[in-house]
Amino acid sequence: MASTLLLAGCGSPTAATNNQPVDQKTKINLSLKPDESGKIMILMYHNIGKTEAEWVRTPENFRKDLQTLYDKGYRPISLSDYVTGNITTEQGKTPVVITFDDGNKNNFEYLEDGPVNKDSAVGILMDFHEQHKDFPLEATFFVNGELPFGQKGMESKKLNYIIDNGMDIGNHTQTHVNFTKAGVETIQKEIGGQAQYLQGLINNKDYKITTIALPYGSRPSDKSLTPYLAAGSYNGAAYKNIAILNVGWNPGYSPYDGKFSNEGIPRVRASETKVDGVGFYDYLQYFDKHPEEKFISDGVPGIVTVPKDKAVILNSSMKQEIYTY
Ligand SMILES: [Zn+2]
Repeated sequence: MASTLLLAGCGSPTAATNNQPVDQKTKINLSLKPDESGKIMILMYHNIGKTEAEWVRTPENFRKDLQTLYDKGYRPISLSDYVTGNITTEQGKTPVVITFDDGNKNNFEYLEDGPVNKDSAVGILMDFHEQHKDFPLEATFFVNGELPFGQKGMESKKLNYIIDNGMDIGNHTQTHVNFTKAGVETIQKEIGGQAQYLQGLINNKDYKITTIALPYGSRPSDKSLTPYLAAGSYNGAAYKNIAILNVGWNPGYSPYDGKFSNEGIPRVRASETKVDGVGFYDYLQYFDKHPEEKFISDGVPGIVTVPKDKAVILNSSMKQEIYTY
């Protein structure tokens, strides 16, 4: 999880060496056409494996995905930075969020003699970041159950490794529950119990599990229970989710868009199989043709830069300074 939400800058001038304030806006290169009202893809992966399938990406294809993102100017950000609007992406580039569901062993495997499997998701992400330092090492792994990443005795080691390397762990419930018919007790146990369990395995006691991917994208059919997805308590401990993720089928709103909701974040399937024209590569192509619809960072986290005609869609109550051109 990257740094806190309301960071330095935030629209206020920074002291320069001659004690004259420097207008942060002068750092923004308008020729890069920054547009922070545009869409951001939250990619949804499940497995990395030998045979490509609907829910499986081969190591080669996952590397291709990362290279394609890199070449097209996409740069990963953390989910928490996305929902809090702390976009630190370098100017001219487009943020993207990478997520993995289910905590399968092929997401993160230690080989018998010790090293991280280079063909597991974590291994591939680490290697790619090593070779492309300007491609931040950011991804969220949503894990369910008591054995995240499937190697007994390594649960704690793996969670800490992910967090210590700047990536994130999210909640995917205790039993991969379908929330449709769940009652209030079940919802809080599934979410709160899992958050407590995971936090108990993590050395950094300041690290909280605050994001959830809903299994099957399911929500309680009793709408009065929906608030318990965001907050509740179990066994005397409160939980709070700042991001609630669905399963499909389209890019997310900018966190500065008035329509953005942190409690219903759509994802794009990171697959090329059975994606029905709404997969990752479909949207890459779409944004190539419609660059005016994607988020392009201004490089200054405290200022939200948009072309004049886009200002109307922004959330009027946001804290950041708005800069139009
Ligand atoms: Zn799942």
